[in-house]
Amino acid sequence: MPCLDYDLTLTDEQRAIRDSAHRFAAEVMRPAGIELDRLSPEEVVAPGSRLYDVVRQARDLGFMSLAGPAEVGGLGASPRTQHLVLEELAWGSLGLTAVMFLSEWPPLAALGSGNPALAEEFAGPYYGKAGGVRLGAWAITEPNHGSDTLGAMRPEMAVAGPGDLVARRDGDHWVLSGQKSAWVSNGPIANQAVVNVNVDPKGRLDRGGVCILPLDLPGISRGRPLNKHGLRSLPQGEIFFDEVRIPRRYMMAEDAAYPRHVNSTLTAFNAGVGAITAGLARAAYETALAYTKERIQGGRPIFEHQAVRARLFRMFSLVQATRAFSREVFVYNQTQLATGGPAPIEHSIASKVFCTDAALEVATLAVQLHGGNGMTKEYPAEMFLRDATALTIADGENAFLSQLGAAEL
Ligand SMILES: Cc1cc2nc3c(=O)[nH]c(=O)nc-3n(C[C@H](O)[C@H](O)[C@H](O)COP(=O)(O)OP(=O)(O)OC[C@H]3O[C@@H](n4cnc5c(N)ncnc54)[C@H](O)[C@@H]3O)c2cc1C
Repeated sequence: MPCLDYDLTLTDEQRAIRDSAHRFAAEVMRPAGIELDRLSPEEVVAPGSRLYDVVRQARDLGFMSLAGPAEVGGLGASPRTQHLVLEELAWGSLGLTAVMFLSEWPPLAALGSGNPALAEEFAGPYYGKAGGVRLGAWAITEPNHGSDTLGAMRPEMAVAGPGDLVARRDGDHWVLSGQKSAWVSNGPIANQAVVNVNVDPKGRLDRGGVCILPLDLPGISRGRPLNKHGLRSLPQGEIFFDEVRIPRRYMMAEDAAYPRHVNSTLTAFNAGVGAITAGLARAAYETALAYTKERIQGGRPIFEHQAVRARLFRMFSLVQATRAFSREVFVYNQTQLATGGPAPIEHSIASKVFCTDAALEVATLAVQLHGGNGMTKEYPAEMFLRDATALTIADGENAFLSQLGAAEL
């Protein structure tokens, strides 16, 4: 039961970039992802870590510039092509794909801001081939406000401030004080970030602003990289702000524009999580399928036992469904976001919740089909399960997201 791509409209060019992404995922990302998974968080971010070698190669192949327009040096890939590539990369390593996907966020946000000065400062060097790789982050979660920060678009979910990161106006500048939580992906290694702040400390948390800024400004410091259960090849950690002064132009959205910005970011990110989850689910299924053809019990490969095949068939069905659903939602909502049309968030949330729940089931079954070997680090099945668990919480824990999505029905 090999997986099948039902899309008969794929062009030769799309198949070629998908195959090239798969080769990179198989030859570079999978071994690197497994190696990084076993290191301490400090070793993962240390100079000389294999992580930096992988992102350099990915940058040279265009996999960190998928969505950027060709005019500025991006690949200008269509949403369908982006999905094809993201699925393959995540098949290789979910954590490393997240490192790459998030890095393109600040330059894309700068381009989308409509402010040429921000585009020049944050997108120009990113897409330009001179200089090193620039890593990026989106920092919204705070120690005391996780789910709270994601409900900004629904007035009935608004909670009282202050946030843990507050911005106050000072003439032509904003001054940022406080911190973001240890969950910020790429937090310990990012060069630039999109950061959500609270601008109404005595009032509501949903009165916010969205800034873009380089992370080497005076007053910015980082926490220790987080030691966590899954996605260990994706460094995460706190960012601290001690009276950090930023020019007014760095504030891309504030007040009334804030909930809309959170809405469109979550719409894009949840669709993206659906895409990468399809790759993880397929990786877990294919690994289990291969194992069941090798492992002999009852005098024959366990693949030949009906109870094993029934579980493989369930996994196969879920993998095909995650790819189909996540791709259609990704293509629809990324196209709408890029062209200014309505991009309904509930569809992105449905894709994220369905696909991550499905991937968790597939990864759980993969571990069980490995028997005792599913518990060991000799096989990647247990890593897939830990990574799948992390995805049910990333970009909104699934039960909370479902509540947010249901409110839109
Ligand atoms: C792998 C990973 C990557 C991440 N990447 C980033 C990143 O790049 N940037 C970033 O800023 N953050 C990131 N996060 C943080 C993530 O967005 C938060 O963990 C998530 O929003 C949940 O917040 P919390 O952890 O504070 O949990 P809490 O908000 O404390 O939630 C705990 C539980 O309470 C439930 N709950 C909370 N509020 C409600 C409510 N109002 N109604 C019903 N139930 C509720 C939740 O559903 C959950 O089950 C990441 C997290 C993970 C795991």
